[in-house]
This record gives sequence, structure tokens and C-alpha cells, in this order.
Amino acid sequence: MSAALSRISLSRVVVGKEEERLVLEVLRSGMLAQGPMVARLEAAFAQLTGTAHAVAVSSGTVALVAALQALGIGPGDEVLTSPLTFGATLNAILQVGATARFADVGDDLTMDPAELARALDRPVDRPVRAVLPVHLYGYPADMGAIGPLAAAAGAAVVEDAAQAVGASIDGRRAGSFGTGCFSLYATKNVTTGEGGVVTTDDAGVAARIRLLRGQGMRDRYAYEAVGHNYRMTDLQAAVGVPQLARLDRITDQRQANARFLTEGLAGLPGIVLPPSSPGREHVFHLYTIRVTSASPLERAELMAHLDRRGVESAVIYPRAVYDYPCYRDHPGVSLDPCPRAEALAGEVLSLPVRPGLTHLDLGRIVDAVAEAFSPRSFRLQPLDAAGGSSTVSRVSSASRS
Ligand SMILES: *Cc1c(COP(=O)(O)O)cnc(C)c1O
Repeated sequence: MSAALSRISLSRVVVGKEEERLVLEVLRSGMLAQGPMVARLEAAFAQLTGTAHAVAVSSGTVALVAALQALGIGPGDEVLTSPLTFGATLNAILQVGATARFADVGDDLTMDPAELARALDRPVDRPVRAVLPVHLYGYPADMGAIGPLAAAAGAAVVEDAAQAVGASIDGRRAGSFGTGCFSLYATKNVTTGEGGVVTTDDAGVAARIRLLRGQGMRDRYAYEAVGHNYRMTDLQAAVGVPQLARLDRITDQRQANARFLTEGLAGLPGIVLPPSSPGREHVFHLYTIRVTSASPLERAELMAHLDRRGVESAVIYPRAVYDYPCYRDHPGVSLDPCPRAEALAGEVLSLPVRPGLTHLDLGRIVDAVAEAFSPRSFRLQPLDAAGGSSTVSRVSSASRS
């Protein structure tokens, strides 16, 4: 392969002229924090998700913390979540002082409603106050089943929609099934650098988050609650507003790229492609395959091959979220084994799917994966310019001499 081919990265920030124009507009306006641009971002988010309210905050993690606090969840309460997620999900639960418990995932890597039913059935000392599914990689959890189970148990639904802006279930957007928590971190489908949004139809929850966001003040120095500073700046909102306006195009590109990969990678032995199910719209924050035990190639070998071919890949996430000493030893973490999450964490591998990939890039990704599975590639060790051609040149020079 030619060294001229650039590395294909998993994520890349794409901001355009409109972002630059709006940031400048904010800079020149003198209203840098919690001003009209934040209000515009909130209005756009509420419109997108079809919720009555959207409240911008400083990060996705803060969105989760604020949502739980606004629902009155704290010490003595239990939150049931997915074991296959980013640490932020669990950190937020522990931050508010609640206890975290886990309902194992299904083959689609999101919370399995049957496991949730089992977890809710088990008698515990603490009430389950919230069910917190994660729309992993942009694929929405089975909210049609999870919502009613939570409701029957008297638990609120909090969605970790950090990776799933624009995803939907039977036409209803992620973030509209309870209290929706979004992240606008640099790698997410819509970014403000750092940032978060909470969406809800509950005016009380929205008002409570607005209160907590500004030190618990309704009016200046009229403290009504022990609050915090969860605010977003208008500079950040100015980066997010144009991206939300073109979210359909961003999502279309991710989905088109995913279709290309799925067509190209179909049929490889032991490889499971991303889940799909009628009505559940995947927005492909990540394109994550599974390298199962039926694969002739180990996941690490495939990664090493992709790396040699200039294709970035990553294991997101390598372990169940509780499977670290800081959580295992934490009194707020209730450990029921989640064997499927633990097994799947050993299989997942994310490939580039971001907007901006060309057909050439996508072709290179497919070829690199397919090539790793072809028997020849096991013998042609280094798989670079030297490895492939040196045999040929040796033969030809020998024949000449
Ligand atoms: C990114 C992310 C978060 C946290 O969002 P930040 O904006 O980084 O605080 C939470 N949950 C999941 C699943 C995420 O991917």
C-alpha cells in the first residue's frame, strides 16, 4: 500500500462556515453565557425530540446528574442501568448518591427488557426509582418494552441518549420517552466541544433543572435549592445550532456509510454486524461489529491488521462498566453478574462511519477487513509495500543474474 493514503480516523470534528459566523456573532454580542444562543439551541432540541422542554447544560454527564436530581433521586434510591456503557452513566448515578444496579444487555448490546423485568421482580431493600437505558452507539434501546416495565414498577425513565441524537423508535425520538440526556462532546454526532441537553415533557422537571443549573436561584440571590453551576455558554451553543439544523444530512451520511459497510462486510465468518430491527432507527454514532469465537481471527489480530492498513478501530467498551476496582469496591454499586455484557465487551470492535468518509475510504475499510480474513493474509506477514513486493523483486533479480 502507498504511504500517500492517509489514516482513516474513527471520529473527526466537522464544523463549517455557519458555526464560525455564529460564534463571531456571539463574541461581538457581549452575551457569552446562558444567553439567547443557548435558548436557540434549547428550542431546536425540543423541536427535534418533540418534547415540550429542553434544558442545555455543560456536559452529557451533567445532563444525567441534573436529570436524576430533578427527579428527586438520591441516597437510598436505586437506579437500574445498562452494564455496557461509558463510565459517565455510572458516575452520574453515584454522584447523586443513589445505588446503581444493572440489567444485562441483549444481543443488540442495549438493555434487555427481559433482564429488566427480572431485575425489577427481585425484592430489594431500596426502591427502584429510575430505569436508565443507554442508546448505545446510536442504536435506541427497546423503549416500547422498557417504558411500560418501568411505569409498572413506579420508576421514572431516564434515557442516556448521549450517542443517539436523532435516533427514533417507531417514529418517536430518543429522549422523548422520559427524561432524555444528550451529550454534545467533541466526538458525538452533534458537538459543541463540551455540552449537554436534557429533554422532557415534564414542566416541573425542566424548571427544577433550570433552578439547579443556576445555583438554585429563581431570581438573583433568591436561593430556593442547593444548586450548582451547570450552565452552557453561548459560544458553545453557537457551534451546536448550525449542526442541529443540518442533523438530517449528518445522520443520512452516517446511515449511508453504515449501509456501505454492511453490504461490504456481510458473510465474513464469525463476524456479527450492527443490529437492526424494524422501527428502531440507528444513527450510527459508531459502527460496531462483533468478532465472535466463531471467527478464525482474534479481535486483536483484526485490529492490528486494520492498523497496518491505516484504518483506525477501537474497542468501545472493553469491559462491563462495573468491572473495575473503583466500582466493584464501591458501596453504591450493586453487583449482579451480567454475563452477556461481559462476553460482548470481549467481541465489540468499532470501525469508522463518520461523515466525510469518501467511497475510497469506505472501500479501504471493507477491503482491509475482508483481506484480514483471506487465508493469504495470514502468510503475508507485514502486509506493507516491503512484505508484498520483496518476494517478487528477489525472484526477478535472481532470474536476471
Ligand atoms: C459521551 C457519553 C456520556 C457523557 O457525556 P459527556 O458530554 O462526555 O459528559 C454519557 N454516556 C454515554 C453513553 C456517552 O457516550
